[in-house]
Amino acid sequence: MIEVERLGKKYGTRAAVRDVSFVVQPGEVVGLIGLNGAGKTTTLQSIAGIIRPDEGSVRIAGVDLATHPVAAKQELAFLADEPEFFEYMTVEEHLLLAMKLYGTQVSTDADPLATFGLHEMRSQFPNELSRGMRQKLAMACVLWRSPKALVFDEPLTGLDPVGIRDTKEVIRAHAARGAAVLLSSHLLHLVQELCSRVIVLDGGRVVGEHEVAALGRRVEEPLERLFVALTGGVVDP
Ligand code: ATP
Repeated sequence: MIEVERLGKKYGTRAAVRDVSFVVQPGEVVGLIGLNGAGKTTTLQSIAGIIRPDEGSVRIAGVDLATHPVAAKQELAFLADEPEFFEYMTVEEHLLLAMKLYGTQVSTDADPLATFGLHEMRSQFPNELSRGMRQKLAMACVLWRSPKALVFDEPLTGLDPVGIRDTKEVIRAHAARGAAVLLSSHLLHLVQELCSRVIVLDGGRVVGEHEVAALGRRVEEPLERLFVALTGGVVDP
């Protein structure tokens, strides 16, 4: 569903991502983890078509992003780590704009604002919303189409426990109906809980790809130990 092949991106002479390849299958939730500056956002933004990679290819639901960008993006939802909004547009106007851009009108029997608990806030402006509500607005704007591929950059960071629970539920629900989900996070215990597989980036390269179930039964420690080992830290004996 999400296919990344030999992705490479340089900023000036510095390589941010090198030779990155992986696949996320329908129904899978895969975590992209790595130290600050490892290349996670560069990888996710390349998949979302926000930045143009120098090398390699991305296919979304079998459609090549470089040659058919509009068709590929029709199948994709991207959630940035800090979603940005238009200050002078209400919650409802943001959703209407998102729908208009994709050529669809609001359906009364499936109101995405109600789905994300935003119905009461439909006349409010983004700067009047909490971080969790802004996150929900961003999700409502990209998920109403039920896209086949979800790419989320740090979707759980900065949320309170209820926001984390709600976001996890949204991610699980989309995966359960067959969407491929790729997310980055530094919150390893949540990655371990939510993802079936992790891809570890270090210095812009993939240094490990592991099934979470194979890491061990204790919740946080196995992934933390793997992370530290793969990213050059010292592992306690
Ligand atoms: P973090 O966990 O801190 O969000 P990350 O894994 O998402 O980090 P990236 O943001 O992809 O890492 O950055 C990868 C490398 O590319 C870093 O060395 C970063 O300094 C560099 N980089 C990212 N964006 C730019 C840019 N616009 N111009 C120049 N260098 C950049």
